Amino acid sequence: MLIVGPQGVGKGTQATRLAKALDIAHISTGDIFRANVGEKTELGLLAQKYMSQGDLVPDEVTNSMVADRLDQQDAAEGFLLDGFPRNLDQARWLGELLGARGQSIDAVLLLEAPTEVLMDRLVSRAREDDTPEAIRKRLDIYHTSTTPLLEYYHDRVLAVNGVGGVDEVTQRALAALHRRSPSN
Ligand code: AMP
Repeated sequence: MLIVGPQGVGKGTQATRLAKALDIAHISTGDIFRANVGEKTELGLLAQKYMSQGDLVPDEVTNSMVADRLDQQDAAEGFLLDGFPRNLDQARWLGELLGARGQSIDAVLLLEAPTEVLMDRLVSRAREDDTPEAIRKRLDIYHTSTTPLLEYYHDRVLAVNGVGGVDEVTQRALAALHRRSPSN
């Protein structure tokens, strides 16, 4: 499954909790990039200049990183992709990759919150790439490049209200997933 939502909506927090509850691998492209930046790997050095500006890392780089990650054993029985795909080209690429493996995306969880709530949360998280300009650019990219994914995956989107306590939102998301597939 995928989790999609604007920056500041609590996507990473909820993704960690949901993957644990569902016993599937949590794959965050942002976390993998940040780990590589921290370790100063070749990938990290390349990604850093895009990340610090709030730009997307080029698709070929991101896609091949995701392909490697999906090959790992813990993703064999299911995975929650967090921060990927971020645009239609990445979504199409993912569809082909999974199709070739006889897999598919079952559900796309859309976490939503009003802009005022997002801004409050961003101010309090103080991440290194949270400069005003990078924040603005990521919001722009979300609206122009990421929201078209909702149309692309329209038959699998589950919209969940992201306003509220962390537990409350997790329960909402799990309830939405169970409503969709009560047998699971
Ligand atoms: P995130 O933690 O999801 O906000 O990601 C942090 C940064 O990593 C983004 O601003 C991008 O620079 C980069 N990044 C994460 N996921 C992707 C992706 N799917 N495609 C391109 N760049 C990405």
